[in-house]
Amino acid sequence: EALGPTITAGEILVEIMSTSIGAGFMEPQSLIGPFPSGAPAIFIDQVARLGSPAGIISAVGEDDFGRLNIERLKRDGADVTAIEILPDMPTGSAFVRYREDGARDFVFNIAKSASGMIRMTENARTLIGRAGHVHVMGSAFAIPGIAEILMEAVAVVKSRGGSVSFDPNIRKELLAGQEDARRRLDQILAVTDLLLPSGEELAIAAGVDDEAEAVGKLLSSGVAEIVLKRGAKGSSCFVAGQHLDCPAFIVEEVDPTGAGDCFGATYVTCRRQGKSPEDALRYANAAGARTVTRRGPMEGVSSFAELDEFIHANRSDN
Ligand code: ATP
Ligand code: MG
Repeated sequence: EALGPTITAGEILVEIMSTSIGAGFMEPQSLIGPFPSGAPAIFIDQVARLGSPAGIISAVGEDDFGRLNIERLKRDGADVTAIEILPDMPTGSAFVRYREDGARDFVFNIAKSASGMIRMTENARTLIGRAGHVHVMGSAFAIPGIAEILMEAVAVVKSRGGSVSFDPNIRKELLAGQEDARRRLDQILAVTDLLLPSGEELAIAAGVDDEAEAVGKLLSSGVAEIVLKRGAKGSSCFVAGQHLDCPAFIVEEVDPTGAGDCFGATYVTCRRQGKSPEDALRYANAAGARTVTRRGPMEGVSSFAELDEFIHANRSDN
């Protein structure tokens, strides 16, 4: 952490969600929002809420959706200097509706929004020059040119002795039309110190279905640490010959969006602060659990004080 802030690059969005369960948006329905969102933004907001230096390279329009996001990031202590305000583009958006089985349908406006126009600016270079850790969020690859920005950040930060984490965060809606997705995945994996997959992302990353085999393959290819997110089943960590499992906290799930991002941000921050994998996993599980109890992806971000209180209140010996 002494090396400098944790940074990321990628989409800032507002999320507008359906208040009813069902498939997609083919009929009129009630919506609630806008909520500040975008996986990279949620991640960086959670790092900042933990009191750690954090910054994001992004772009928003000159509109309320953009202002709403910048205000929230600022309030939580994130560095917003590398967020460009583009007067001619709307801020990105995501409409989401949950299905009966918990799956989600999205309508994204990223490619043709300000988020789709993120570019390397003077301010972005300055932020990268100070950074000690880069977090790569897979969802950001829907943005043309973001791979070059992230790879430049990775090269600069690694040359300063910094580290890299990667959340594949694969969304079927965003994968469409990305023919070089596999090549890019391998390019990032080659520089990843800490991998944070969920669901089938581990198998996709490793190219192997069996979990233990996939973990072994990635660890021997140079990824130092793997943390698996298992939703309501908790999480597991594989590092330095250790295998740790952490059960999820039992909470009422109101809105799961953002759990993975808050979990990842908390794990990365704890490890950067020198906490053990075990402590990092417990804090990250608590952050993920708190997130799902709030409607809106960034509404459940946590400070360490809130996590300590939550962990204390939810001890298994209660
Ligand atoms: P996202 O949809 O944000 O990409 P993800 O798939 O990356 O999410 P999840 O596994 O859904 O990540 O959630 C991350 C972590 O949050 C889990 O490992 C768990 O610790 C916690 N979590 C998620 N859902 C629940 C839940 N219903 N109850 C308790 N904890 C949860
Ligand atoms: Mg995820």
